[in-house]
Amino acid sequence: MALIFNFMTANDSSMTLSRRSLLGGLAAAVSLGSTAPRALATAQLDVVATTGMIADAVRMVGGDLVSVKGLMGAGVDPHAYRQTRSDIVAMTRADTVLWHGLYLEAQMESFLEDLARKMPVTPVAEGLPRDMLLSHEDYEGRFDPHVWMDAKLWSLVVDEVASALSDARPEASDVFAENAAAFKSELDALDGYTRRALEKLSREQRVLVTAHDAFGYFGAAYDFEVLGIQGISTESEAGLNRISDLVEMLVARDIRAVFVETSVSDRNMRALIEGAASKGHDVMIGGALFSDAMGPEGTYEGTYLGMIDHNVTTIARALGAELPAGGRLGKLGMGA
Ligand SMILES: [Zn+2]
Repeated sequence: MALIFNFMTANDSSMTLSRRSLLGGLAAAVSLGSTAPRALATAQLDVVATTGMIADAVRMVGGDLVSVKGLMGAGVDPHAYRQTRSDIVAMTRADTVLWHGLYLEAQMESFLEDLARKMPVTPVAEGLPRDMLLSHEDYEGRFDPHVWMDAKLWSLVVDEVASALSDARPEASDVFAENAAAFKSELDALDGYTRRALEKLSREQRVLVTAHDAFGYFGAAYDFEVLGIQGISTESEAGLNRISDLVEMLVARDIRAVFVETSVSDRNMRALIEGAASKGHDVMIGGALFSDAMGPEGTYEGTYLGMIDHNVTTIARALGAELPAGGRLGKLGMGA
């Protein structure tokens, strides 16, 4: 096994020892003899990820071998997010930086492309086969970036994450591959739950009205009609015409539930509900969905598996399916 040498200051030695115990096999190959370098081979791989979903995949694939910082927390809109000064410091000090790509981080793209000339920086969704991507309705030649809404597609992104971590630490690639395989079988189980939950809805019930068009891949994978008030990016303005068209549609098709998003203002959704009410049609908010950001850190909803479980269970229940409120694993709504 190759050893990784990392030179630390004397103050880091206690941390080095505690990390050694976490790092199992790697650390076992290292001995702290007097002729050895001051600190050895045991530092975790330091990863920065833009979105919470990517940070989650890094955690699942990297396990104890990585330390990951996600830049965008709960409720943060990645279309509008711009790197802060402390983000820049974290990224330049990291071993590797992972971002989504497909023009999701529209305000960070040029910064990340510049950074890629100086250090390993990987846009993990850019590696997806183009024929699996939906086109972007606002920008010609670009694709809809919201691929995490289909667990099968996300599974392919997990492969990209594993490959980026393996590039950064080749001697751990077997561990990364094993962890990725375990996570991907969880993603398969989540996909199966999603199909079973949504099968409880009739064809007419399968309409999802949300604040912006984040659910295109969800619609394509699970045979749902998806209508967002705003376009694929939250940067586009919702026109009054768009709202009145949607009001007509809610009334005509007798749709009773629409959904707000945790990372997008609910202002347009209120206008839509008021518009429907003025025509004598009651619409309720079926719940708040995690579109572009996961739930609070430390909760089940703050993981990818919990985020999608929450969305699927909330959508299916609000539109009329009988399902336990606790979701796939009975873990929803339990808090931290
Ligand atoms: Zn979005």
